[in-house]
Amino acid sequence: MMDTVYDLIILGAGPAGLAAGLYGARAGLSTLLLERGAEGGQAAQTDRVENYPGAMLEEESGYTLTARMLAQAEHFGAQKQNDEIRDVQLDGEIKTLTGAAGTYRAKTVILAMGASPRKLGCPGEEELTGKGVSYCATCDGAFFRGLEVYVVGGGDSAVEEALFLTRFARKVTLIHRRDQLRAVKALQEKAFANEKMDFIWNAEVVSLEGEEELKAIQIKDVKTGELRRVEADAADGMMGLFVFVGLDPNSALLEGKLPLEKGYIPTDEKMHTAIPGVFAAGDIRVKDLRQIVTAASDGAIAAMEAQRYLAERE
Ligand code: NAP
Repeated sequence: MMDTVYDLIILGAGPAGLAAGLYGARAGLSTLLLERGAEGGQAAQTDRVENYPGAMLEEESGYTLTARMLAQAEHFGAQKQNDEIRDVQLDGEIKTLTGAAGTYRAKTVILAMGASPRKLGCPGEEELTGKGVSYCATCDGAFFRGLEVYVVGGGDSAVEEALFLTRFARKVTLIHRRDQLRAVKALQEKAFANEKMDFIWNAEVVSLEGEEELKAIQIKDVKTGELRRVEADAADGMMGLFVFVGLDPNSALLEGKLPLEKGYIPTDEKMHTAIPGVFAAGDIRVKDLRQIVTAASDGAIAAMEAQRYLAERE
């Protein structure tokens, strides 16, 4: 791979990267998609997608939608490589990306690494991750069939995933630090109408307890400071806690390489970063609306700008 200089390397194969892959390859650019994990990004871990235009089929999940995005990009010639990039050199005409498995070079780069679920940062969280504590309802929801489940957060993710969890859990209690949800109205209405849903308002999770599995959650009332301990039902022996308290950009790799704002990459409206030939797309960008449709739009624009940048240099 070291000898090949691609026209375009896209870092990250979520909806932004996959749309960039489609547009780049279709525009005739030699295009490589680099992904450290599973394709599809966060969208692939979403059970129902009902707000990507055209995706309203009962059976449509984030996984099936993004799998088709990848197939479409590959159909037009984009190549895909699994590797975790550890270092980037973005200045100059040829950009170099160094990964665990190889080194990759390109004339243009689109940064589309997205964002990852934020942690609560409370005692017990790390130790109990995978033992009752989860950040992915689609992945782990079925383990909690018939049990009691708690969800932390008040945004679209928390409410959407809490609703999904009602399919498995006996009861789903949403713990939110305020007394109003941030989630879009349509989701709020569904949540309030769902008989399996309950709410603990103005509350923060302060610690998690359990050895082999999550047994209790310490909750603090943010108004009164009162502490309260929620325990797993004795007959169940365990409980679930799903955390959806926002996202952190996957930009550690770029520290000192590119100007960042709170970890997000500022771009102009054509997805140009501060470095010529380097573009950013999707959730990693400074933007207002982080959605599959806006990620895909960013990816398309970034790829067309990469093509324009290359054409100007021919
Ligand atoms: P978000 O919109 O940033 O919401 C995070 C939620 O967690 C907020 O309710 C926030 O409380 C709460 N929170 C933050 N830090 C906390 C902490 N340390 N302890 C307890 N609670 C905390 O994040 P998100 O829901 O993950 O969504 C991320 C982006 O993806 C958003 O732009 C969202 O619209 C989008 N998204 C869209 C869909 C959809 O359209 N169907 C689905 C999922 C996600 P406050 O409200 O008090 O700030």
